[in-house]
Amino acid sequence: MSVIGIDFGNEGCYVAAARSGGIETLANDYSLRATPSFVAFDGKKRIIGVAAKNQQVTNMKNTVGGFKRLLGRKFNDPHVQHELTSIPARVEARGDGSIGIKVNYLGEDKHFGPEQLTAMLFTKLKETSAAAMQTQVNDCVIACPAFFTNAERRALLDAAQIAGLNVLRLMNETTATALSYGFYKNDLFEDKPRNVIFVDFGHSALQVSACTFTKGKLKMLASTWDQIGGRDIDLALADYFSKEFQERYKINSKTNARANLRLLTEIEKLKKQMSANSTKLPLNIECFLEDIDVSSSMQRSQMEELCAPVFQRVEQTFKRLLAESKLQLDDIHSVEIVGGSSRIPAVKQLIEQVFNKPASTTLNQDEAVSRGAALQCAIMSPAVRVREFGVTDIQNYAVKVLWDSEGSAAPGEIEIFPQFHASPFSRLLTINRKGPFNVSIVYGQQVPYPDQTIGVWKIKDVKPTERGEGQDVKLKVRINNNGIVLISSATLVEKKEAEEAAAAEQAASEEKLAEQAGGANAAGEPTDGQQEAYCENEDDNNTSTASSPGGQGWAQRVKGWFSSGTDKKKKASKATELPLECTTHGFSPIDLGNYTQQESKMIGNDQRETERIDAKNALEEFVYDMRNKLQDGPLERFVVESEREAIVAQLNDLENWLYEDGEDCERETYTSRLQALHQKTDPIKVRANDYELCPAVFEELKGSI
Ligand code: ATP
Ligand code: MG
Repeated sequence: MSVIGIDFGNEGCYVAAARSGGIETLANDYSLRATPSFVAFDGKKRIIGVAAKNQQVTNMKNTVGGFKRLLGRKFNDPHVQHELTSIPARVEARGDGSIGIKVNYLGEDKHFGPEQLTAMLFTKLKETSAAAMQTQVNDCVIACPAFFTNAERRALLDAAQIAGLNVLRLMNETTATALSYGFYKNDLFEDKPRNVIFVDFGHSALQVSACTFTKGKLKMLASTWDQIGGRDIDLALADYFSKEFQERYKINSKTNARANLRLLTEIEKLKKQMSANSTKLPLNIECFLEDIDVSSSMQRSQMEELCAPVFQRVEQTFKRLLAESKLQLDDIHSVEIVGGSSRIPAVKQLIEQVFNKPASTTLNQDEAVSRGAALQCAIMSPAVRVREFGVTDIQNYAVKVLWDSEGSAAPGEIEIFPQFHASPFSRLLTINRKGPFNVSIVYGQQVPYPDQTIGVWKIKDVKPTERGEGQDVKLKVRINNNGIVLISSATLVEKKEAEEAAAAEQAASEEKLAEQAGGANAAGEPTDGQQEAYCENEDDNNTSTASSPGGQGWAQRVKGWFSSGTDKKKKASKATELPLECTTHGFSPIDLGNYTQQESKMIGNDQRETERIDAKNALEEFVYDMRNKLQDGPLERFVVESEREAIVAQLNDLENWLYEDGEDCERETYTSRLQALHQKTDPIKVRANDYELCPAVFEELKGSI
């Protein structure tokens, strides 16, 4: 079994594998490490990755890229509408408001959602990894942008499940980068903690994170981002050149999707050259539109001027990180850059300007994310043995819990996790209730998603005590390994026990209150005078409670409640688990099952198509090879002339048939023809072999015939 890390980029994917010798970035079927995030369709099969990108210009409507940023969203989401301006495929709203990308596949119009397209890409990555490693791929860690919200994370997990991948963790991209930096430098963190800034400037996004390393672990401090990337630079330049071409040649490339794509392709090449060269560079496109050849040029300073708004946003994102992380310039050891667009000199200059440090390129700029994800997978999976390295990530948005009213009790809310709280993490929230109630988890700040709601949980089977009083319901609110916030359990605690424990807790922690007041979040205290609801930390397997803001104080409250004293533990075990009903983002199990089935059907179809093409190619190859060998070739002398002529004639007929009636046949047709040829020609090969083994006997035999 193998262990992999996937960097699913908006433009391209990288896959790294953990092997006993270390981490290795895997090459795909084109011997390239980058697999373009493109899926295409034709009458017979799906085309994914390099091959899909290569045929884009000739199959525009049925080639889809850029779907990473559509994950988990609805068609009428303004963000989706904006993204669709750069996707040439036809896209429609499906009955449930989700995104349906319409392509012609197997001769029919079909709709696929972004999750299905992502699953198709994952299937390809899984296949190429299995081929590269000669073993099945099951466990993986997938990297996702730090700014992905609940809906996007769930959509990515759904996509992975459709593709049959077992995701051990969804890891924020900059955290993966930080792990690939820290894991091998561990010995350098012995003396004192090291603070490093990671800048990932890719195709569609800029992400900046601050991280602190101590021996054996890393802890993320803060992240900032903006939805800008290399593609925005390409678009700004495309705007400039199309205006110029309109003036000079009177042609409008914007109205022609194919011309637009060719222009963007040339611009990207020019942009990359400009990163290494500040002199004027040419841009030439032959037969661009209406048979007109166009030519122009640009130099770096001109590009910087045209893209000034993009670079301003880059600068603001850097400055925000400095403010959010609360790091002083002197506290920062280095600024490490990854992502294709971080090669742009203007970005490096801004880093130097804002952080007062030169941009450092310790890491492989393209592969760091996938390598970090593979390392994390190796740490978590039993399949590979590696040194432990603790990763404490952060929850990038504040999270609130809201519950509805009951009788005279007012509805309530609490900020359960402030922004940049350690993750994974669990907190216990106690709410006193007489009957079933609803709890919502929402983002407590503006997020880049139209809906702030994470989910609504129905807490069922809550009953009053015999005396008709409310009972304590303990909700475990958890940020899990995937950065998803949920209620993982609800427990009904007997009233009597709650009173005893509360008294014990008060006695045990009275002197600690002062300590709590320093760092504890206000949410740690009861929300009103009647103690209707209050909140505590819960120790989490993978989590250091001390690392959360105010964590220590809350952890001590928990000790008073659950962990100290065996008799209290006994009482806690009497607590009753309550059934939960949750409404949140992501596919229903039925939809997920259907999509998984559809994916396996498509995989089966692709396999059959590949086998069919292979069979055709094998027959074609045999025809050419055998004809060459029989006509002035090494087999000529091992067959009587009349038979030789008959076989060559048959080969010629077959060649013609392959270009005409036989162009598009079933696999079996090709294999049976090949078999028939083998039957005729194998004896000739046997005679040739025998001759090679023992020429003298052969000559003797020949003489005697
Ligand atoms: P994202 O992280 O936004 O999901 P991604 O991971 O696919 O996307 P990367 O592979 O990091 O993105 O970067 C791709 C971008 O980097 C493209 O826009 C590409 O044009 C740009 N790029 C690559 N090399 C250079 C270079 N030398 N100079 C300028 N830009 C470059
Ligand atoms: Mg990226």
